[in-house]
Amino acid sequence: QNGLRPASLTKLKTQNSNLKTQNSKLKTLLCTRRSRLKKIGQRVMVGDRVLVEEPDWAGGRGAIADVLHRKTQLDRPPIANVEQIIVVFAMAEPTLDPYQLSRFLVKAESTGLKVGLCLNKSDLVTIEQQQNWQKRLGEWGYQPIFISVYNNIGLREFSDRLNHKITVLAGLSGVGKSSLINQLAPENNLRVGEVTGKLGRGRHTTRHVELFEFTNGSLLADTPGFNQPDLDCNPGDLVNYFPEARQRLAEGNCQFNDCLHQDEPNCAVRGDWERYQHYLDFLAEAIARQEKLNDRG
Ligand code: GDP
Ligand code: ZN
Repeated sequence: QNGLRPASLTKLKTQNSNLKTQNSKLKTLLCTRRSRLKKIGQRVMVGDRVLVEEPDWAGGRGAIADVLHRKTQLDRPPIANVEQIIVVFAMAEPTLDPYQLSRFLVKAESTGLKVGLCLNKSDLVTIEQQQNWQKRLGEWGYQPIFISVYNNIGLREFSDRLNHKITVLAGLSGVGKSSLINQLAPENNLRVGEVTGKLGRGRHTTRHVELFEFTNGSLLADTPGFNQPDLDCNPGDLVNYFPEARQRLAEGNCQFNDCLHQDEPNCAVRGDWERYQHYLDFLAEAIARQEKLNDRG
């Protein structure tokens, strides 16, 4: 990954099912890929379940003989077998911007994975502000977990949501993702940055993907900070990435099968819901993107 590592060696966390007990730590083996896998072009991704032949647990080495079927595959970041995405935002610092949050949620929904929402820094707002957001986000179709890493609030509920799965965290930098991982799995010892000071170097500038293990066996990946995820979906699919619009479609039908829910007559989606304007904006973006692709042939 960084050019210093031999290309034939892939470092990954692998699980030794024989040694695994309820609370055991994963052991890390530095593995080569068997030539049979190379011949068939089988790659190994973070999150893959693999068959390791002749594992040398003492020496920390092994050879990957096979990659088990992937239940899911995320391409950005590249991780196999992810079961859910948790979007992490802060209640303040940086200011909770509904439009930006919406963009992250829609992007997360477009993967088809289960999407959760976690709001950190609840220590910076009043209980009324928190309740207002809870109500508002409930109307968007989400039940956020409110946490404060500083005050140790909600962290238990958060780790219960991880539920022994592979989870990807997504969110702006500065919302407290590293702090959260450090708090729940301190041995990982991530660098915690300033809200605005994370420039130039550090893990967010690399393509590195790593899974962090929690004491309950859950695995968590932090995505490299991207502040403005592109909505590169098919315009016709976009509506499905808004739970509250999905709900409207479930309850009624649009007159046209290919309705884009803009100004078509007898549309079940168009109407008086908060994020309808987000939908229209994101739709325009997705259409513009598609046209650009078509122009290029
Ligand atoms: P990341 O970029 O999402 O990984 O965010 P960091 O973990 O680097 O945190 C960014 C800043 O937010 C740091 O200054 C943290 O100390 C601060 N921070 C993290 N959690 C909390 C919290 O619960 N409350 C408050 N007030 N600040 C927090
Ligand atoms: Zn419609």
